[in-house]
Amino acid sequence: GSTIGIIGAGQLGRMLGVAAAQLGYRIHVFAPASGPACDVNNAFTAAAYDDEAALAQFAEAVDVVTYEFENIEAAPIATLAKSVPVRPSAQALSIAQDRTQEKTFVEKLGGRAAPWRAVTNRQELDSAIAEIGCPAILKTIRFGYDGKGQARLASADDADAAWDAIGGNPAILEGFVDFDHEFSIVLARGMDGAHASYPPPLNGHEDGILARSTVPAPAQVAALWTEAAALAGRVADALDYVGVLTLEFFAGKDGPIFNEMAPRVHNSGHWTIEGAVTSQFENHIRAICGLPLGSTAVTGSRVEMENLIGDQAKRWPRIIAEPEAHLHLYGKSEIRPGRKMGHVTRVWR
Ligand code: ATP
Ligand code: MG
Ligand code: MG
Repeated sequence: GSTIGIIGAGQLGRMLGVAAAQLGYRIHVFAPASGPACDVNNAFTAAAYDDEAALAQFAEAVDVVTYEFENIEAAPIATLAKSVPVRPSAQALSIAQDRTQEKTFVEKLGGRAAPWRAVTNRQELDSAIAEIGCPAILKTIRFGYDGKGQARLASADDADAAWDAIGGNPAILEGFVDFDHEFSIVLARGMDGAHASYPPPLNGHEDGILARSTVPAPAQVAALWTEAAALAGRVADALDYVGVLTLEFFAGKDGPIFNEMAPRVHNSGHWTIEGAVTSQFENHIRAICGLPLGSTAVTGSRVEMENLIGDQAKRWPRIIAEPEAHLHLYGKSEIRPGRKMGHVTRVWR
């Protein structure tokens, strides 16, 4: 059988590994020695994600490479791609890890985002505020996740504090969207160009972190499904994308408003493990291995995924006793506030 290389040892890589193992593949995980987030076996330890010597060794040992998170340098991935297939491509990664590039790319394909301006210095922040107005959000272009690398501006008086809060890194200023709901499209694209997308979950965030995803989403979201899924399909086609791609949206009065994309399986797709016929993880593995995609049909009348963040993970002994609960713990050694420690999916038949 073939061996799949997974870059990153967080929970997404771990769940990809479980799906790969189910389909009979071997896996190697590549992660820096400084400490994989999850306790995974068989990790290829490296000095850092861009440790070229370790990457070359890793390339030798695997037949295809995928990655579980976008906060890695695109350059070493492009180097890796010269000796082993990397799916999704290094190009998809470099676009999705840069907020200016992803918004420009999606807007060109007909997607609508909140008004935004690139901000590379303190003066540009003032002119961006003048053009976009407040309230607004300042977001670093790269390396943000779970609301990290963001600062909210209620008025122009917050400019100095916001600029300091994001460390003066290259950023975008984004107009604040007055939305009722957030949802996401998780779409798999196969090597033959076939698409399979899941029904959009309603995503609830607390403190900028996903708290829960519920399927089916309310009617206002369901009404935007076709348009949002078509956009995700165009993005995937334009990138000749292979694997699972996620687009996050706000449900606006006049249609879906694109927030950001992730070139990978997504937290808002965890419900698919027990709540869909084929999980997002299995469909990602199928795609990168050239297999046909599996059904994305929902297995229950209602599915809810709840993240266990920080101390919430301590509730697990009670959760595991619930008849409809499927508990997942990520094997992280230490509980920290805001850290995703596990999740639970409840499926009602
Ligand atoms: P992720 O962990 O999803 O990658 P992230 O750090 O990249 O998160 P965003 O998705 O950009 O951050 O923002 C996090 C959350 O903050 C959003 O899901 C949404 O709830 C809120 N938010 C972000 N941008 C806006 C906006 N322009 N208007 C209103 N709310 C916003
Ligand atoms: Mg993000
Ligand atoms: Mg997000």
